[in-house]
Amino acid sequence: MRLSFHGADRDVTGSCHLLEVAGKRVLIDCGMLQGSRELDAENAAPFGFDPKAVDVMLLTHAHLDHCGRLPLLYRQGFRGEVIATAATRELARLVIADAAHLQDEEMRRRARLNERHGGNRPAPTPLYTLVDATDSIGLFKRAAEYGQPIAVAPGITATYYDAGHILGSASILVEADDGGTRKSVLFSGDIGNSGRPLLPPPSTPAQADYVLIESTYGDRAHRPIDQSIAELLQTIAATFARGGNVVIPTFALERAQEILYILHRAVAANQLPPSMKVFLDSPMAISAVDVFEHYLKNLQPPIVAMIKSGEDPFGLPGLRRTRDRADSMAINTVTGGAVIMAGSGMCTGGRIRHHLRHNLSRPEASVVFVGYAGAGTPARAIINGAKSIPLFGEDVPVRASVHTLNGFSAHADQPELVAWHAGIHGKRRTFIVHGEVPAMNALAPLLRDTTVEIPQLHSAYDL
Ligand SMILES: [Zn+2]
Repeated sequence: MRLSFHGADRDVTGSCHLLEVAGKRVLIDCGMLQGSRELDAENAAPFGFDPKAVDVMLLTHAHLDHCGRLPLLYRQGFRGEVIATAATRELARLVIADAAHLQDEEMRRRARLNERHGGNRPAPTPLYTLVDATDSIGLFKRAAEYGQPIAVAPGITATYYDAGHILGSASILVEADDGGTRKSVLFSGDIGNSGRPLLPPPSTPAQADYVLIESTYGDRAHRPIDQSIAELLQTIAATFARGGNVVIPTFALERAQEILYILHRAVAANQLPPSMKVFLDSPMAISAVDVFEHYLKNLQPPIVAMIKSGEDPFGLPGLRRTRDRADSMAINTVTGGAVIMAGSGMCTGGRIRHHLRHNLSRPEASVVFVGYAGAGTPARAIINGAKSIPLFGEDVPVRASVHTLNGFSAHADQPELVAWHAGIHGKRRTFIVHGEVPAMNALAPLLRDTTVEIPQLHSAYDL
């Protein structure tokens, strides 16, 4: 059995691992590298294996940094099956189509720029097209159910465990017959942060020979979510009192729905005015709400009960879901008293950049970060106290008050990662992936009863 690492190695995005066993090549995730623009070239770099030779892909969850290079894999010849939970399949459809659209827009923009500069640069090529995206989505066939082994190939099974990270997310246990010996490898995917309102806490198998563990927050502990909820509500009230808007850069999956649910509960409890305007300015987040309502069985019991009784846990009297660009632009005229949620979460693109342009320089406004902000992104710069941020060719000064509420994180923190790992017995070797190097180094000495490795990109291990 051979395990090789082709993404999210000493890095926090681009998850991609290849397991070769029982004569088959099984790929676990095929994610996009995210962050600053310079990563464009890295996404187009060779995978480090032959896509045509991959037999099957197992997808842990629908975040772009886990599924975003699937259309590229398809473009380069992969025609095997993709196995994921049904909810992941639905959400991955949205995420992959959105990524293809964004690339299409970006290529058009670059082509226009090129033309304006005399047209003597080579025409830009996208990583993949809308057609590649649609065709690759056609590779999703069977859906995995949590806790039920699914046959991947003769001698290989995969069992998906609810990772509690986003709807449909899984840690995947691959068990294979390796020349007469049964061996197992657990791929953590992204591990959820316990105690969040929508999803159950992460679950794991009791035993695995080899473990890959994510380490996004391997070096820190989150504040309790209740504290972050209280801070969010206080920030909204204080910002409205001084006549400003609250701008929340949100990831379209999970975080947007979670914030809506928290606002719904706060309005129901008279902690916020029912008349308050809330804009969900993200077509993907709007579509994802529908997927959530369709996969009730994956949510926490109070949400299920609410939906069954006809109450919309993601609804608010003053909620506007703005799909169209014109409706989105109309938000620019609202100068106060609104909560505006838009993507992208790290402010690298999308509608949030327009809302920052209109609110960031206003001292009465607030910007609230509720998720991970990668190095080199505008979100990280604002959090780190940048005096101004370049947006649409101008430097926009940061005068709004800035809040970082990490209790909403969809990722386990250091104590939770250690507890997750401790719950798995028999592990001979543990590979730390999906994190920045300081986080990996902080986590490594805390992982007990195992040999710890921090693999390099494209390294391989015979197990
Ligand atoms: Zn994720």
